[in-house]
Amino acid sequence: MRYFIPLLIILLAACQKPEPTQMDWAIALHGGAGNMDSTKFSADDILRYEKALQDALEIGKDALKDSVTAIEVVELVVRELEDNPLFNAGKGSVFSHDGRNELDAAIMDGRNLNAGAVAGVGDIRNPISAARLVMNESPHVLLIGKGASLYASQNGIEMVDSSYFYTEKRWQLLQRTLQRAGKNGTVGCVALDKSGNLAAATSTGGMNNKRYGRVGDVPIIGAGTYANNATCAVSATGHGEYYIRFTVAHDISALVEYKGISVMEAAKQVVNGKLSNTEGNGGVIAVDKYGQVVLEMNSTGMFRAWANSAGNEEVAIFNHIPIVESN
Ligand code: ASP
Repeated sequence: MRYFIPLLIILLAACQKPEPTQMDWAIALHGGAGNMDSTKFSADDILRYEKALQDALEIGKDALKDSVTAIEVVELVVRELEDNPLFNAGKGSVFSHDGRNELDAAIMDGRNLNAGAVAGVGDIRNPISAARLVMNESPHVLLIGKGASLYASQNGIEMVDSSYFYTEKRWQLLQRTLQRAGKNGTVGCVALDKSGNLAAATSTGGMNNKRYGRVGDVPIIGAGTYANNATCAVSATGHGEYYIRFTVAHDISALVEYKGISVMEAAKQVVNGKLSNTEGNGGVIAVDKYGQVVLEMNSTGMFRAWANSAGNEEVAIFNHIPIVESN
C-alpha cells in the first residue's frame, strides 16, 4: 500500500498524452470544397488557384509574424479572397436562381466570443468587413439584406453597384445548372496569433442556383463559423443546410471542450462521421489554441493553404492527406 499510491500517480502520468507543441502562430485558409474532378483542371487552372491561395497565405503569415491580432488577420485574408473572382465570395459570388448575388459572411473573435455577420447582401464589396463592423459597432450579431447594407453604408464600408458581382463564369454556371444540382464554394480563414488568440472568418456567395432569400451556414454562428480561445477556430465550406442542422463549427469546438479530444479528431468525427451519411458534402479548416491545424473534407477537393511558426506550410487543392499536426 505504501508504494501503491505513488505508483498509481506515476502510471497515470505515463498514460497522459503529452501536451502538443505550442506554436507562436498558425493559420489556415480555404477557398471552398466540393467534388472536384482533377482531370477537369488544366495545369494553368491549378497554377492560378495555387497562386491565389499562396498570395492570401503570405498576407496572413506576414501579418501574424508582425504580431497583428488573429481577428485582423482573418479579415485581411478573407478580403483578399473576396476580391479574387476565382472564389465564390465577394467578386466571384455565384448567382441565385433568379440571377441575383446574395452574399453572406461572418467573423468571430475567440478572445471574447464576440461575433458579427451579414446575410443576403448584394452591394457590399467586402461582406467580411461589414460583418466585422456589426460585431464591433452594433449591439447585434446578424444583420440581413437592406438593413445590413444601410448600416454598412452609414458606417464607411465600401459599397458597389450590384453589377460589380457579375462574372461571366458564374453567370454561365447558373445557366448550366438551372436544371441540375448547385455547386459549392466559399472562402474562409482561421488563425492563432502570437498572443494566443483565435479567430475565424468565412464569406460566401452561397449555393449556385439558390432560392431568393436563402441563407446558408456561413453567417450562422456555430454552423459555418466559430472561434473560442479555449478550444479552436473553425471555418466551414459545403452544403450549408447540413452544416446548419449539424451545427458543425460549434460541434467541433464542443467535442474539443467537453470530450477533451484533439481538434484533428473532432473535425474528423464531425466531417467524416456525423456528416458522412448525408449530402453534407464539403469540409472545414480549424486551428486550436496550440496552433494545431486540421483541413478535413469529405469531398474530393478543397482549395486550401496553411502555415505555422515552425516553418511548415502547404497549398493544396485535391484530397490527399487531410490532417496536419504541429508535433
Ligand atoms: N456553405 C456555403 C453555403 O451553403 C456554400 C459553400 O461553402 O460551398 O452557403
